[in-house]
Amino acid sequence: MLPLDPQADIGRRAWVTCPNCADHLDCVTCGQGRRCRDHWRYLLSNTGSLLHLQCPSCTHIWDHETGFGATRTRWSRPVSGPEDR
Ligand SMILES: [Zn+2]
Ligand SMILES: [Zn+2]
Repeated sequence: MLPLDPQADIGRRAWVTCPNCADHLDCVTCGQGRRCRDHWRYLLSNTGSLLHLQCPSCTHIWDHETGFGATRTRWSRPVSGPEDR
């Protein structure tokens, strides 16, 4: 397990599914596409629409392309779907 990144800040979170541990799969809240209290990731940084994330469950670090424009760094919905598998 990696240590948490020093940039990890509980005040900056992103609701993106973790490609490593997929801890959201059994979760009803996540299944409904809502912001889950338990399953979120640290947002370490972002470049335009590319988010640099770390999972607090398994400490996996990855980049996630939101497809949103560079003008806004908000994510209105978690991104999930069969193509994520
Ligand atoms: Zn994870
Ligand atoms: Zn959840």
